[in-house]
Amino acid sequence: MQLETKVKNTISKYKLLNKKEKILVALSGGKDSTVIAYLLKKFGYNIEGLHIDLGLGKYSDRCLEKIKEFCKEQGIKLHVLDIKKHFGTRMCYIRQGVQKEINVSNCMVCGIVKKWMLNRWARKLRASKIVTGHHLDDEAQTVIMNLLQGNLDLGINSGPITGSTQDKKFVSRIKPLYFIAENDIREYSKLKKLPVIYDPCPCAVSSLRIRVRGFLENKPKKDKEKIVDNFLKMLPEMRKKIKDWNIVYCKICGEPARNKLCKKCELLSLKR
Ligand code: AMP
Ligand code: ZN
Repeated sequence: MQLETKVKNTISKYKLLNKKEKILVALSGGKDSTVIAYLLKKFGYNIEGLHIDLGLGKYSDRCLEKIKEFCKEQGIKLHVLDIKKHFGTRMCYIRQGVQKEINVSNCMVCGIVKKWMLNRWARKLRASKIVTGHHLDDEAQTVIMNLLQGNLDLGINSGPITGSTQDKKFVSRIKPLYFIAENDIREYSKLKKLPVIYDPCPCAVSSLRIRVRGFLENKPKKDKEKIVDNFLKMLPEMRKKIKDWNIVYCKICGEPARNKLCKKCELLSLKR
């Protein structure tokens, strides 16, 4: 099946988006988020882009350049958040501060900070959904990573739409490329000559995800589809268990949280 049809089918099967709402696409400058923004615009959705400038030297500068070029070409309104302005320093220093206290990967700290910013700004910009470029390979990796950590429940919020957290301050995150293989996205981005960066993030080193990516790399697409399909079959049962999870608001920042502090504030309060 063609990539465009497959994405349309995912959106309608899971009722991910509608054409009246304002949708914020999280743009990294890479192929995945650029392809989904391109498709949603093509399908007639009301989208705006949001990029978090992580301050990773030349890499971040090149990402921002490509995103600006893409949004200009497509007539997409772009919001850029500079991490230095909001956190006082670049992602590398935020991360190093946390890593002096606990053993966590670069990607884990960065991912938590990015999710926090996306939710907060989606609300500020009155968007009802956040779209990310996560794809089949990412999602199959996540299932295997959670298995390796002995806790499939870690994935309770995954799926084409975030599902366990329901609160007025929480903006749903949507993954319309959930069933699309990374190679097919790469091919499509080249076919459409989209301005994107193909290099991986220079800070994505030695995480569990990288090891799992290596493990799954040459496995057939069918196997990755089976991993996510079987995970999705288990998800409704898994979610029943946490129906009563209480959502509270973080004592420091006011964002939705499961404990007194949200994950971002918990991490950053460790920092000296
Ligand atoms: P990653 O965690 O880097 O694999 O990225 C997964 C998704 O998160 C991407 O497809 C984007 O939608 C979003 N994302 C990653 N980095 C950024 C960024 N710097 N600014 C905005 N969105 C991002
Ligand atoms: Zn907080």
